[in-house]
Amino acid sequence: MSALQLTINPSAQTGSAQSQLEQLRLVADTLPAQIALYEAGTMHCLFANKQYAQLYGCDEKKIVGMHLQEIIGAAGYQAIQPMIDEFLRTEAAVNYERVVQSPDGQQRTIEVTLTPHFDPPGQLSTCCVLISDITRHREAQRRVKESEERLSKFLDASAEGILFHQGGFTTDINPVLCRMIGYQYDEAIGRSTLEFVVPSERARVAAVIASGKEVNYETIALHKDGTQIPVELIVRSLVREGEITRMTIVRDIRDRRKAQQQIARLALHDPLTGLPNRGQLLQSMSHCIEIAQLENQRVACLFIDLDNFKRVNDSLGHHVGDELLKIVAGRLRRTLRESDVVSRLGGDEFVVVLPDAHESADIGKVAGKLIEAVSEPITIHRHLLSVTPSIGVAMYPQDGKTADTLIKNADAAMYLAKNSGRANYRFFNADISQAAYRAFLLESELTEAVRRQEFALYFQPQFDCKANRLVGVEALIRWKHPQRGMVNPAEFIPVAEGHRMMLPISRWVLNEALAMQKHWRAAGNAMQCPVAINLSSMQFNSEDFVAEVLQALQVHDLPGACLEVELTERMLTNDAPASAAKLAELKRAGVKIAIDDFGTGYSSMVHLRTLPIDRLKIDRSFVNDLTHARDALAISSAIINLAHSLGLEVTAEGVETQAQCDALNKLGCDALQGYLIARPMPAAEFEAWVQNGCVWAGQV
Ligand code: C2E
Ligand code: CA
Ligand code: CA
Repeated sequence: MSALQLTINPSAQTGSAQSQLEQLRLVADTLPAQIALYEAGTMHCLFANKQYAQLYGCDEKKIVGMHLQEIIGAAGYQAIQPMIDEFLRTEAAVNYERVVQSPDGQQRTIEVTLTPHFDPPGQLSTCCVLISDITRHREAQRRVKESEERLSKFLDASAEGILFHQGGFTTDINPVLCRMIGYQYDEAIGRSTLEFVVPSERARVAAVIASGKEVNYETIALHKDGTQIPVELIVRSLVREGEITRMTIVRDIRDRRKAQQQIARLALHDPLTGLPNRGQLLQSMSHCIEIAQLENQRVACLFIDLDNFKRVNDSLGHHVGDELLKIVAGRLRRTLRESDVVSRLGGDEFVVVLPDAHESADIGKVAGKLIEAVSEPITIHRHLLSVTPSIGVAMYPQDGKTADTLIKNADAAMYLAKNSGRANYRFFNADISQAAYRAFLLESELTEAVRRQEFALYFQPQFDCKANRLVGVEALIRWKHPQRGMVNPAEFIPVAEGHRMMLPISRWVLNEALAMQKHWRAAGNAMQCPVAINLSSMQFNSEDFVAEVLQALQVHDLPGACLEVELTERMLTNDAPASAAKLAELKRAGVKIAIDDFGTGYSSMVHLRTLPIDRLKIDRSFVNDLTHARDALAISSAIINLAHSLGLEVTAEGVETQAQCDALNKLGCDALQGYLIARPMPAAEFEAWVQNGCVWAGQV
């Protein structure tokens, strides 16, 4: 027993040896470890606490005197024999880890320390065995290791760049990011992450790091060779190997940027003639007006329409019509000064802006020169053609203060020129506004029409050719005028837009479209696709807009997902924060959001990223030019790539030919809409079309 006394704490040396022993056992039995003492020479047990005995299924009294091999079993003994030998040979502490099976059958990992005691000094007498159960510790370590392994596999496999850093110093980086910024793994580790961004962005990135916030933002990465790479960063904090680490996902957005720039550039030009389009025109004109206002000058806006263009187009075909437009564009451009603006609005309509117009007589002279230049006979494909222009002129400031009004009034003056014998020009004046008069007639009739419910909805399918599936249907309004017959929306919507009567019309469209949707849902599977309605800007800007949509859904007992709203980019520029809030609310209700007429020049790419948009609709003008104008193909392709990189779907509008259909499918367009698939049709006809299996010409 002398060896035992060695382990007695001096402070416990009170009372009899017996009670000392009991105290010792009490302490030993309450320790969260297994302890035993063996006689070094024989490896017989001198003492064991309860936990030790239990580990081997023994009793702590009976275990005393037993041989180590008897206690831990032959296999166990064999396993630790080398450690015992080492202990005896070196007479120094030995440490090892072992997996044992506890009496209840569980596998435990234990850490064992053998400590020598020398009594008398210099002579090895006993071996103290201390065992701690480190199963939980090892398990936790294993889990961490596994998750580390999973993470590093993920890092290696990820198609996106990923970097980990602590306090701005790189701790890990994946192969994709190494390639993106041109560093080897070892070079990158330990480096300040700021070295990987361009100097002008470093303060901003440092601020994000310091803030510790989880954010997404765009910046410019710096390749080792100096190349600047626009990137999107997604920053998150996570615990890695017990420490808070920042993970940054780095996405190369060069393609997205390129597509954006391409669209921005192309979107401002008419692909056919290369002239600025309406979007660019409005920008340039507003700019001219600002300057004129400052310098007290006048600006002339000339609206030019070709008198017999439609006949040429219809009788000789589009390609001759297109050639003609190009030639006219060239002649207009050549007749004017460099500082004058020449643009094509679409079709055979051109607008010319003279920024520093003085006398009406001067402008009359310019108009006369333009008429003369355009009217020169032209030979195209051996056809001798002659077209004449009619020109209407409106002046800033007296005929209008904004680009829109000036164009509208020049348009009205152009009608007057046409009516008074073509190849002519006319100035706008307050009482010529015939167009305004027509609009007035239409307006009073429209008010009646709302009351008499003369409207109908037509439906045009949106088709996914790859999946050969109907994916949507657009509701398009028609006015069944008692005398004039069917009036198209292009005629009356612009008139109604300017007045409050657009509100009841819009409300009617929403409810009618949802009523049809409800009816179709009941009709079976083939009819299950969302219905898209066109929003008017008056409707979208009205305060109750969202509430009205939500209420209509509720009244018809329909989920938000069965409705898609189409709005134009122009509608978003009015009050951006309010628009964003409205869209977000609709989106939360499940309503889908599409941007209509995309690419026609009001693009603000910011909207696409920040607003909850689901779909872009490529404007008909691009689809129309797709197979013969290279720009149109480029822009459609850019739009589709941009949309896909932002996770949006793309629908092409106005698909009329198989060639357009093929081209769009090749570009990866998600859905097609147009006469090739089906014209807009009354509800019953649409239903029949779907029930008969959506058959259309180009279907395979
Ligand atoms: P949008 O929204 O761009 O509608 C597409 C227009 O293209 C429709 O003209 C449709 O009939 C026409 N279209 C479809 N496929 C083809 C095709 O292959 N070739 C050609 N050339 N045209 C095709 P629609 O019905 O005359 O409507 C004209 C515009 O009036 C619409 O343009 C939309 O801006 C507006 N609109 C129509 N219905 C409503 C409505 O309920 N509310 C509001 N606010 N606006 C509406
Ligand atoms: Ca539309
Ligand atoms: Ca459209």
